[in-house]
Amino acid sequence: MKLKLPICPHCQYSFSWGSVMKTLWRFDGLTKCPQCGIVLYPIVSRRWHMSLSTFIMLCICFGMQMVGVAFSIIVPVFLLCALIAMLLIPYWYSYYDEDRH
Ligand SMILES: [Zn+2]
Repeated sequence: MKLKLPICPHCQYSFSWGSVMKTLWRFDGLTKCPQCGIVLYPIVSRRWHMSLSTFIMLCICFGMQMVGVAFSIIVPVFLLCALIAMLLIPYWYSYYDEDRH
């Protein structure tokens, strides 16, 4: 599966990881293309929804298996999973312009 950062559907401007991350902190999640100025809506693509749920389930299963194992092992493992998920979030998004809604 190829990781791709979102691009503007209007002018093909490629968003940076940092700018996607910044957008995610906004309540409405809307962003403007810095190149052509069009308003874009972020959507999480379906295939990523699937992999995200799989990933979370794996984490939970892993956590369950570790019940009874030292807390000092469980915590770093979960933090690591959360960190990896966070770093990958910008790759899960695609941007769509208003016309498609
Ligand atoms: Zn654009």
